[in-house]
Amino acid sequence: MGRAFVYVILGGGVAAGYAALEFTRRGVFHGELCIISDEPVPPYERPALSKGYLLPEAPARLPSFHTCVGASEERLTQKWYKEHGIELVLGTHIKSADVKRKTLLTAAGETISYKILIIATGARSLKLEEFGVTGSNAENVCYLRDLADADRLVNVMQSCAGGNAVVIGGGYVGMECAASLVINKINVTMVFPEAHCMARLFSPKIASYYEDYFNSKGVKFIKGTIMSYFDMDSNGKVTAVNLRDGSWLPVDMVVVGIGIRPNTSLFEGQLTLERGGIKVNGLMQTSNSSVYAIGDVAAFPVKLFGETRRLEHVDSARKSARHVVAAIMEPNKTDDFDYLPFFYSRVFTLCWQFYGDNAGEVVHFGDYSGSTIGAYWISKGHLVGSFLEGGSKEDFEAIAKATRLKLAIDDLTELERQGLGFALAV
Ligand code: FAD
Repeated sequence: MGRAFVYVILGGGVAAGYAALEFTRRGVFHGELCIISDEPVPPYERPALSKGYLLPEAPARLPSFHTCVGASEERLTQKWYKEHGIELVLGTHIKSADVKRKTLLTAAGETISYKILIIATGARSLKLEEFGVTGSNAENVCYLRDLADADRLVNVMQSCAGGNAVVIGGGYVGMECAASLVINKINVTMVFPEAHCMARLFSPKIASYYEDYFNSKGVKFIKGTIMSYFDMDSNGKVTAVNLRDGSWLPVDMVVVGIGIRPNTSLFEGQLTLERGGIKVNGLMQTSNSSVYAIGDVAAFPVKLFGETRRLEHVDSARKSARHVVAAIMEPNKTDDFDYLPFFYSRVFTLCWQFYGDNAGEVVHFGDYSGSTIGAYWISKGHLVGSFLEGGSKEDFEAIAKATRLKLAIDDLTELERQGLGFALAV
């Protein structure tokens, strides 16, 4: 015996919350829609976990950042789901799926069936153990993907005020955590193998702007090396991080942000996968016509660049969620998803936005010793990407628009001279 729904969203993260709102806007009957999540709370804005949630004073706490506040929409609390007749099946892990039978099996043995399934299982943090390092389950080693991780991080942070932390990984989770640790008066050293921070996105010049800023706040960087093993005390707490170059760092706590893996395992062998995610078409539909995928787990065609990509960012989770609901409820009126990739981050008082693709040649602009810096990426004679730190709302809208138009660029020196003015004039 089990429950049956018309629509089931598997995963209760960012994409699930935005899809739920869209379902209610387009008209879903009470009892038709169910969201299944192994987290104990309704969907929330995950980016808050490395920002407001970690602040020492007036930290963000639920219910303040339930979806969909991140896009200035309604805040969907447990009460909201109840009022809209949406079944929240929380604290429930799905351990297997059968797309032929259209069923999901919970860890407790219940079968939940659907007519249409939306996979929104997001991703999990990569563990050090996957790189041959042991000990990352020690009580003072933290990862950050969900609320439970964030609570743990807060507790560990509070127990070592004034102490030393090592942040392993130079991506945005590592950078945001490093900033939050410093704000909590913890001494931070960041360790990563690349030549500079945010290596997948930033140019060396942009990275050095942020590294200088972090240095000015007391953060130290050890680049071009990786950790090799932990020293532990008799209680199983990590006391030092040993690096491959033979040096070691005494620590009170460690934060690990070394990337994520999409949660695809339930569907391997049942659906087509690509780029580590579940392959979908422009309507977010998988290789099974009753199953759709959105958010971090979906590999979708990015029309603008003519290729399939999987994006691990909140804006794409929100927009793919709205799109899938339109595609399911009004398939004949819905065009293929036409998405301009957009990422952002906030650290200390800084805030950057990036649109498009960081391919081809990079042209920097702005005052790299000041507070507004930017860059354009030019590939095959066209603007394909833009980055801006410290701009106004209008400035960010202008670089987004210029990137979306993929404007032809024939003089890079002139583009550099015009800088932000180029986008503002479009
Ligand atoms: P998620 O939000 O991860 O939700 C997936 C849900 O599925 C989770 O609730 C999970 O528990 C559940 N689930 C998975 N498998 C199962 C199962 N078998 N059974 C039941 N439930 C399951 N992006 C930006 O653009 N800017 C930022 O500044 C930014 N900051 C971030 C900071 C942090 C700390 C993190 C972790 C991410 C950040 N992101 C940021 C990325 C952004 O949060 C993700 O892109 C977004 O959450 C993806 O949404 P999603 O719904 O696809 O997945």
